[in-house]
Amino acid sequence: MNHILNNAERCGLFTGTYGRSRCTANCLGCYIGESDTYDSKYQGKVDQVHELMSILPNLKEAVIMGNPDPSVDPVFCNETAKILQTRDIRTLFITSGVGGLEMIKRITDGLDPALIRGIGFSVHSLDEKKDALMKGLKAPLLQGIFQSINYLKSLNINVQVLFTIWPMNMDDDWTEYFDFFESRGVAVGNGFGSIEAANGRIDHVPLGKIIEIRKRHKDARLPTVLANDDEYQKYLTTFVAEKKFKCTNLKRIDVCFTDGEIKATYSCSLVGTVYPEYFGNIQEYNLNKFHENTLNTGYCPIHKQALGFEVGSLHPVCRFYKQLPKKPLLKNPTLSF
Ligand code: SF4
Repeated sequence: MNHILNNAERCGLFTGTYGRSRCTANCLGCYIGESDTYDSKYQGKVDQVHELMSILPNLKEAVIMGNPDPSVDPVFCNETAKILQTRDIRTLFITSGVGGLEMIKRITDGLDPALIRGIGFSVHSLDEKKDALMKGLKAPLLQGIFQSINYLKSLNINVQVLFTIWPMNMDDDWTEYFDFFESRGVAVGNGFGSIEAANGRIDHVPLGKIIEIRKRHKDARLPTVLANDDEYQKYLTTFVAEKKFKCTNLKRIDVCFTDGEIKATYSCSLVGTVYPEYFGNIQEYNLNKFHENTLNTGYCPIHKQALGFEVGSLHPVCRFYKQLPKKPLLKNPTLSF
C-alpha cells in the first residue's frame, strides 16, 4: 500500500487518453498528447472511478478535465461526478467551452449544485477571433460561454474564466479583461504560456515582454514568473515558506484513466509533461528528486523548458506565484453578460 496516496485530498482527472489529436478543440498551446500516455484512443470506465476512490480514500475534491476536455465525453464526465458525489466529493470542471450551453447542461445534469465547486472556461481574449485562433476553432463567447456562465450562476454554481498569455494575445488589455469579468462576479485565473512552446506549434513569450506586461498591468493579478532580488525575498518569506508548490504538495495529485492502469503525476501538469518518467502507475507515486531543492530555493524545476530562455540575473519562481491577493468577488453584480 502506498501511504502517500492515503493523504491525497484533491485530484485532477483526465478521463481517458484521447489526447490533443482527438479533442473537440485544437488549442495551439495544449500540452496534452506530448507524452506516451496519450498515444492511444482510450475512454475511461466506471470501474476506474470506483478504483480511484478506493486508492484515494481521503479524496475530497476532483477537478474533472475530461478526455482531455469535458466536451469530448460529457456523459462520462457527468457519470463520474455523480459517482464521486455519492461520497460527498466535490467536483470542478475545466473546459474550452466548445459545445456551449448544451454541453454544460449535459455535464451538470442531475448533479447536486452544492457539490459542484465550480466550472472554469478558457477564454484567452475578449476578442472572439483571437480566442478562436488560440483554440483552433470558434467557441462563441456571447452565444456560448457567456450564456453558459449565466445559466450556471442562476444555479449558484461558481464560475471562473482562465486565460493563458501567448504571443498572439500578449498585447491584450489584461486590466480590462479582469474588470470585465470581475465586475460581473466571475473569478479570473491565468498564466503565461509555458512548456507547450517546446513542440514548436507556438512561440514562447519573450523575457522582455513578460516584464513589460507585468509592469503595464500592475493592478491585474498576473503571475510573477521572473522575480528581481526584492521580489524573490518576499517570495521566499511567503509562498516558499508556506510550501505552496503544486509539484511538492502530496495532498494533490493528477491522474489519468488509461487502458489497463490508472496513471498519476504531480498536481503541476508541467512536471509530468517535461519528465514523462514522473507519469506512471498510481501505485508508484512518490516524492520526486527535485522536491527538496524546490522547497529550499523556490526555483521552478522545469523553468528552462517552460520559459524557453535563460533567466539571467532574475529568479525563476513558481509559475503559480502571484504577488497580489485575490479580490473578493461581488455577490450581486449589477452588470451581466
Ligand atoms: S515550481 Fe514549477 S513545477 Fe513546481 S508547481 Fe510551480 S510551476 Fe509547477
